[in-house]
Amino acid sequence: MTELSALDAQLADLLATMPDPTATTYVNDLEDGLANQFGARHAIVVSSGTAALHTALVVAGIGPGDEVLVPALSVIMSIAPIIHAGACPVFVDCNPDGTDFDYTDLTAKTSLATKAVLPVHLWGRTGDPARLGRWADEHQLLVIEDACQAQGSHTDGRFAGTHGAIGCFSMKDGKLLWCGEGGYLLTDDDAYAAAARSYRSHGLPPPPDGFPPRVAHNYRLAEPLALIAGHNLTRFDDFLNRRQRQAARLGKLLADTPGLHLPAAPSGQRWNGYSFLATVTLPQTRAFCEHLANLGVPNSVGSFRLVPADRRHELAAWAGPGCRNATAVIDRTLAVILTDRDDEHRLNGYAQIIDREARAWRPHN
Ligand SMILES: *Cc1c(COP(=O)(O)O)cnc(C)c1O
Repeated sequence: MTELSALDAQLADLLATMPDPTATTYVNDLEDGLANQFGARHAIVVSSGTAALHTALVVAGIGPGDEVLVPALSVIMSIAPIIHAGACPVFVDCNPDGTDFDYTDLTAKTSLATKAVLPVHLWGRTGDPARLGRWADEHQLLVIEDACQAQGSHTDGRFAGTHGAIGCFSMKDGKLLWCGEGGYLLTDDDAYAAAARSYRSHGLPPPPDGFPPRVAHNYRLAEPLALIAGHNLTRFDDFLNRRQRQAARLGKLLADTPGLHLPAAPSGQRWNGYSFLATVTLPQTRAFCEHLANLGVPNSVGSFRLVPADRRHELAAWAGPGCRNATAVIDRTLAVILTDRDDEHRLNGYAQIIDREARAWRPHN
């Protein structure tokens, strides 16, 4: 039997047992598999990455009156859960190459109200988790990682999302491990895990001792999606290798393209290749990225109009004076969006277009 028909057969069997309002077999199996794959004590499966972040903040006791330090180099999905938790996002700038926090700014933005720092591993780049851990210990802050784009990235042998108190992940289609929609939390903390299991299902089972009873959510993942995720998890190493090879292939094809500089991971860090990344040194880089998107090369700035989170209209109430490095990094980064369906033919096509257009690019007025 091929892999696909094995999944088909399992889905047919599962459908034959539905509706079963109490079924959690595939969710439980998936949690065991995720904890095992990433080396965490607990995995708690939820309905999205957004739900994972919201759940993590709530079980960590973060709410009204609290501040959470977040990179401006992030996306709306990382920030919305902080606001949903009733807390206040405080935007922190990145270092000039966008691979980590600007620690001077991080320290300057810390106040008596700060409870946690929430690094966002955008495009699969994690920064230096050991350094952040030391800094957070020194300031007595929790680290909650948004590792939605960093499944499989690792530093010194430890996976992204397992360095902080809680790591949050998405299984939305397009993320490395996908099942349509879904998410999960990883933690080594028994109480956080039990509180998260309670919170995702309207307080059933009840939270552990020390956690206040609270109005919660339905953040459960449906069994058919857990089955698909579990199936994909068995192929996780293939997914990861494939994405890393795709990014490396584009890097090789574009190594001599003028106006593109290809960043490399610092030693000890292995990025998952979530997106192919290049720093663009051509004039009018945003227009260049939009031009590429129009020619069929999907990318963060060109296709999704990515701007620093603190420059978004709906977050204006929380924005400070502006994070200059984050703006410069986003404006200069070509982040080509990859999926496991992108074959060599498509990647060659992307490279051909990018190389040709970079050579021909002239500033407009
Ligand atoms: C995808 C993503 C999320 C949200 O995940 P959803 O499953 O779409 O809710 C949060 N943060 C980052 C960095 C993401 O890429």
